[in-house]
Formats: sequence, structure tokens, C-alpha cells
Amino acid sequence: MTSLNSARNEARANGGKAVHDAHADDVNARLRSEAFQQAFDLGYPPVDTAAVEDATRQLLVAVGEDPLREGLANTPRRVARAYEELLAGYRTDPVALVNDALFNVEQSDMVVVSDIDFYSLCEHHLLPFYGKAHVAYLPAGKVIGLSKIPRIVEMFARRLQLQERLTRQIAGFVDEVLQPEGVAVVLEGVHLCARMRGVENGGTRMTSSTFLGRFESDPAARAEFLTHIRAR
Ligand code: ZN
Repeated sequence: MTSLNSARNEARANGGKAVHDAHADDVNARLRSEAFQQAFDLGYPPVDTAAVEDATRQLLVAVGEDPLREGLANTPRRVARAYEELLAGYRTDPVALVNDALFNVEQSDMVVVSDIDFYSLCEHHLLPFYGKAHVAYLPAGKVIGLSKIPRIVEMFARRLQLQERLTRQIAGFVDEVLQPEGVAVVLEGVHLCARMRGVENGGTRMTSSTFLGRFESDPAARAEFLTHIRAR
């Protein structure tokens, strides 16, 4: 679901064309900088799939399994491929992701993209946590193509994560790319490491939020965003 405002923004934004201007060059230079790559844990080397396969075989032996039995014979290779995919976020090229999909706008209506599915791995147990992400920003002259917001969420979800850090990184990235008046991110997550191990009971979800700029300083802006996501 996207809000009326975001639909309006995109309609207006797409009326103009993507502008490859000084701002876009400036954004791309920032995204490629060493400081940015470090701040957002990007630019990691490729996954060493042979090492993951060896480690998986050792893990199977360590838990009392026979890694050569039929059902497990190809498991190390599958696990290595799965980790490659599930941890691809460290290796995403942020410039290719944004792909100059920045548009000039004059109004500063709130843009809200809600109910974005995310799937991540908790760094404490290497088990999944997943749920919904809700992202909003107050444009200061620029908006980003609507489809990019879920891809930003995915880039940070496909890592070993903590939900709080995932929330902050999504907000920080939107802030860096658009330099808007404010960014708000709320994540609602189900943590299988807690559920499967019986640490928590059935319906528990964890909610985390980051508010930057006007969403932090202006309770009315924050309330408008929270109303949007509660009205789903
Ligand atoms: Zn965990």
C-alpha cells in the first residue's frame, strides 16, 4: 500500500524525467566513497562458497549427522548458495540500486511506503526474522522512484542483522541519498530464534523505529506518519 500523497508525488515526479544533474553526480560520488561503504557495511568480498561448504559439512558431523547420507549429500552446496543470496546485501552496488531514479519535486508532501515485506537473519543465532517495514520521508526538492524503497530495505535485510540496526541503516541511507527534511522508519518483526525456541509466546512482534530530522523534532509530522501506518 502507498499513501495518497506518495501516489501524487510519484505521478508528479514521473511527469518530469529523471534528472542526471549535479545532484545525481554528487549522490553517486558519495555512495561510492570509502566512508559511505564503511558506514553502511558495503563492498564486502564475495562469499567463499567452498569454505561455507566445508564448514557446513563440519557442522553436520558436529551435530551427529552423516553428511554423506543421501538427503544431506548436496546440503553443503545448497547452504552455500543460500548464504550467498541471503547475505547479498553486503555486496549490493548502491549506485546501481539508486540508478539515478531521483526526481525533482516542488512540494514537500510526506511520501509513505508501507507494508514492505522484509526477510533477514539475526546475527545472534543465524535464524530468520521477518516482517513489515514502513518508510516515510519529507522531500526537500527530491523524491526517489517508489520501487527503490523496497530494494533499499532488502539491501539492508540481506545481512546478519539486529532489527534496531536494520531500522537505522534504512533511515540513514534514505537520508544520505535524498537529504530530505526528515525520514521515518518503523519495522515490525517476528524473530524465529525466539519463537522456535519458546523464548517468547505465539503472537509477539518486535517494533523498532528511527525518526530523523523533522520526524524527530516535529510531533505532528511523526503523528501523521504513525496515523498512516496504523490506518492500514
Ligand atoms: Zn536471534
